Amino acid sequence: MTRERTTTVAEPPQLASARRVLRDVFGYSEFRPGQAEVITAVLQGRDTLAVMPTGGGKSVCYQVPALLENEGITLVVSPLLALMKDQVDALHAMGVAAAAINSSISIEDQRRTLAEAAEGRLQLLYVAPERFGNGSFVAALRGIRVALLAIDEAHCISQWGHDFRPSYRELGGVRQLVGNPPVVALTATADPRVREDILLRLQLRDPVVHVAGFDRPNLRFEVQRVSSLKEKSQAIAGELRALKQESAIVYCGTRKRVEEVTDFLQRSGVKCARYHAGMEDNDRKRIQDAFARDTLRVIVATNAFGMGIDKPDVRMVIHHDMPDSLESYYQEAGRAGRDGEPARCILYYSPRDRSLREFFIEIAHPEAARVVEVYRALAAAGGERVHVRELMREDDEPGINAAVQALVESGLAARRGWQVSAIRLDGEADIDTAGLDAHREHSFAKLDAMEDYARSRTCLRARILAYFGDTEHEPACGNCAPCTAGTLTPAETHAAAEDDLFQLLRAVRRDLANRDGVPPFVVFSDATLRDMARNRPRNQTEMLRVSGVGQVKMEKYGEPFLAVTKAAAGGPAPAAGPSLYARAEARKSGVMGATLRETLSLYKDGIRDINEMARARAMARSTIAGHLADLLLAGAIEHLDGLVPVEKVALIREVTGDRPFKELGPVKERLGDQVTYEDLHLVRAYVAARFNNPTTS
Ligand code: ADP
Ligand code: ZN
Repeated sequence: MTRERTTTVAEPPQLASARRVLRDVFGYSEFRPGQAEVITAVLQGRDTLAVMPTGGGKSVCYQVPALLENEGITLVVSPLLALMKDQVDALHAMGVAAAAINSSISIEDQRRTLAEAAEGRLQLLYVAPERFGNGSFVAALRGIRVALLAIDEAHCISQWGHDFRPSYRELGGVRQLVGNPPVVALTATADPRVREDILLRLQLRDPVVHVAGFDRPNLRFEVQRVSSLKEKSQAIAGELRALKQESAIVYCGTRKRVEEVTDFLQRSGVKCARYHAGMEDNDRKRIQDAFARDTLRVIVATNAFGMGIDKPDVRMVIHHDMPDSLESYYQEAGRAGRDGEPARCILYYSPRDRSLREFFIEIAHPEAARVVEVYRALAAAGGERVHVRELMREDDEPGINAAVQALVESGLAARRGWQVSAIRLDGEADIDTAGLDAHREHSFAKLDAMEDYARSRTCLRARILAYFGDTEHEPACGNCAPCTAGTLTPAETHAAAEDDLFQLLRAVRRDLANRDGVPPFVVFSDATLRDMARNRPRNQTEMLRVSGVGQVKMEKYGEPFLAVTKAAAGGPAPAAGPSLYARAEARKSGVMGATLRETLSLYKDGIRDINEMARARAMARSTIAGHLADLLLAGAIEHLDGLVPVEKVALIREVTGDRPFKELGPVKERLGDQVTYEDLHLVRAYVAARFNNPTTS
């Protein structure tokens, strides 16, 4: 389903000229989503951040203004030499005076290009970021009038980006070097923190942020909730069998999973092949080619499959395991339906999936405190070799390896096999604790957003687009599972399973009531059992979060119920998975991310309106609400005053009681339009914080 993007505002005069250039020089009759807005902002001399997906048409956003500019050249910073050459060639073909300066260009040609630029004979000059470290280049720049500074692949400036480049770090100062022109930064990376980092590091002034073009209306998003691996494989086999002669990709989280799922599917009569980075190059190439030629329809793969694959008619992308972030998910799912025809993107989710991702985070991002602890142990050994086992806590193998690795990388320790030793004994202060914790926290925040998607009962597309900061979307798209389920009730999708569980729990209650000679409701109310069935607690802590389960009843009756819900949840709880509440504890004691501090400072300035904060920070409302929830959980904000009206708080607590609650969907369902998800988010955090730390009440 496509939506009309109406432009009701009168077109600024600059845009008419821009349209002319687009038509006459580039030969395109219409702007792509976002281009007109970005170009308008640039032509108005505003600093601008344009976020568009790859292929969305970012180059036009600075090339059109460059051609309308008579006062000076447009200096384009780009990290990719090959791309730079393609761009310059394409511009030449259109009769545009453009040139590039990078390490592949001879000194002579560089000199000639700089002279042309100084004489005003060039419209666009592409340079590699390393050039700004070159004295004679910087000197030559002084003689050139720069009307616009364009920074392509701007995410390279962010340490949060997947592609951080040290040479980008210096770009913050380049504007001054070239006479303070406006800056337009461009990226396809939609991680909200990367976006903020770009604004901060490039020192954009009162920037216009425009995120556009991420919507893929032909893709239908679905999440299927399952409770076991077996159920997953069977459901996937069913989908693939129904697919007939069309192409599909099944993504799995690990190579081992790829092997298992491929075997299962083949045994179930689905023709498919495996693909992962552990295979021989030849085999991978053969499979990739077969897929491209349609002699192979289904590929089961890790995320190693995808680079450079642009098969247009993939009709289905299935995720067997939840990816680490919405960016990864959208990138992989987005390989469906390139031809614009309907395609499905199905994520299979079981609550246990989180633990696999947490495991990967543990491996990649140790806790700073743990790194310090390990270093102290090594220092205490006076630089002698220590066996890794001696440094380990219980169940801590990924953690310890990550901690040791962090010390090795910062030059404080050496590792040989199982033996580790301190290189220096006085290096504790050199451990970048803030950086370590920030990376870890960032990874968890991304995972949280991914899991929120997996658990969402409202429009999945809206969730993705809101996360990306794309504001031009409807609250419900009409082309995703929650939207077409007709209602947002969980009953639609999970009624059967939940009801079975509810009946089981009632049976347990009946037994206990008989045993103690009390009426069943004395044990637990129906509402409590329903909540239990919905949330399937896996341990005492989770059981205590069920509405109506207090400490005393937990001790008296908890275990028999827990035995049932644990089994229904599909196995043991992930080992010490940092729940919402555990993370709140961590935040209380640990560092607070820069982005949270910024939102907090707005709050401290007296701003309470989420819209206003969102505008001030150029972020989505939902992001700001997430920050405020974190701040409430961390105790940095103590009251809801002004954030959520008291009547709404009362309404919500009427439904949830005074205990912490987890699921927002059922509450929203009960209260409808009387409350927003943001309200619920904030109240949930507020209640959780007070429950964790009653002294703040
Ligand atoms: P990005 O840098 O965002 O990945 P490009 O700027 O390379 O994307 O553009 C991708 C393709 O889309 C290019 O071939 C470009 O010429 C084309 N394109 C850009 N704008 C338009 C438009 N308004 N209409 C049609 N095609 C466009
Ligand atoms: Zn939808």
